[in-house]
Amino acid sequence: MTALHDRHPALAAADPELAALIGAEERLQADTLRLIPSENYVSQAVLEASGTVLQNKYSEGYAGKRYYEGQQNIDQVESLAIDRAKALFGVDHANVQPYSGSPANLAVYLAFLQPGDTVLGMSLPMGGHLTHGWGVSATGTWFRGVQYGVRRDTGRIDLDEVRDLALAERPKLIFCGGTAVPRVIDFAGFAEIAREVGAVLVADIAHIAGLIAGGAHPSPVPHADVVSTTTHKTLRGPRGAMLMCRQEHARAVDRAVFPGLQGGPHNQTTAAIAVALREAATPEFGGYAHQVVANARALGEQLAARGFDLVSGGTDNHLLLIDLTGRDVPGKVAAKALDRAGVVVNYNTVPYDTRKPFDPSGIRIGTPSLTSRGVPESEMATVAEWIDRVVTAARGGDEETVVKVRAEVKALMDAYPAPGLPLV
Ligand SMILES: *Cc1c(COP(=O)(O)O)cnc(C)c1O
Repeated sequence: MTALHDRHPALAAADPELAALIGAEERLQADTLRLIPSENYVSQAVLEASGTVLQNKYSEGYAGKRYYEGQQNIDQVESLAIDRAKALFGVDHANVQPYSGSPANLAVYLAFLQPGDTVLGMSLPMGGHLTHGWGVSATGTWFRGVQYGVRRDTGRIDLDEVRDLALAERPKLIFCGGTAVPRVIDFAGFAEIAREVGAVLVADIAHIAGLIAGGAHPSPVPHADVVSTTTHKTLRGPRGAMLMCRQEHARAVDRAVFPGLQGGPHNQTTAAIAVALREAATPEFGGYAHQVVANARALGEQLAARGFDLVSGGTDNHLLLIDLTGRDVPGKVAAKALDRAGVVVNYNTVPYDTRKPFDPSGIRIGTPSLTSRGVPESEMATVAEWIDRVVTAARGGDEETVVKVRAEVKALMDAYPAPGLPLV
């Protein structure tokens, strides 16, 4: 790679210690097979937009209604991001100011609930997100969280169970979507239940927003009252979030984000979101989204052929949840061995896990990052083989295999340079 001081000369001169760390991270992201399904590689254009003088502006409020002067350009930046979000997802209203997915979700509670009100969401160990009412989250302590899961026999959400819970508990808010859900979410089915009990339906598409934008997953927009998303997962933008909704909820959502929860928006992030949304509207992005799914499906088939136990039997989207119970290796041991082999995953609970959350039975993997590098379906057999070899090696403490796989991973990564990273 080109030397860091050539690419970031001011940073290298002002803070060599920090510059060295960023250089090391560039190296790590270039050389490793990154399989964490919530991660990606943003384009050089997104990186550039997020590192600009927009960083210097305060702009509390919304375009045309700011509490600070000097918003001639900022108003246009934010309006561009909003217009592009509305066009891409086909929504009435978009708010691009939430700092990240968790504050975006908290803003939804603020918009629709009073403390103590009931929220129905998917439980964290079953694949939901902390912010869907889980106990350790503010959303589960300030509100009354009621949780649904997946069926033991299918590994999938059972809408009849969700309906029974909703009728018994009468939530004001229902969340659908999650962080470890490998199957298509039935937004229409959730909407029907929300209607029956008079709840607001929030579709949290943080993981799958890019697939939806690219036409590789059905959209919640015709069904959900509010759509919450991060911008940095499959959508391939900067770290940030958006709330989208029908016009009738626009005021409540906007007021919840500002002044309800936040101060000044991160304008450099807003600009990078606008760039990412422009990219996401291209035919190339549609190709990427479909390839993410094709790669995940191929990887799932290759893993299943090697005897791996996939929760729900496979995937419809970008991620796979692997139950390692049958391989006699805890998820954490496997994840750490894979990391030493240059295959970066996270350990994860599996539904009905008998182990503890900090030392669970599974690992979670996904294909957005490798797809952004252009790694094709034909390589998924190799990826599955690496996982197989390293998981087996992890059980036997065979570090030699781990080192061997690391060299093989590096060779493949060198053949598919990552966007936004300097060439080798
Ligand atoms: C990632 C994620 C979030 C939270 O996003 P952060 O930016 O990490 O706060 C919320 N909901 C779901 C479903 C997610 O996957």
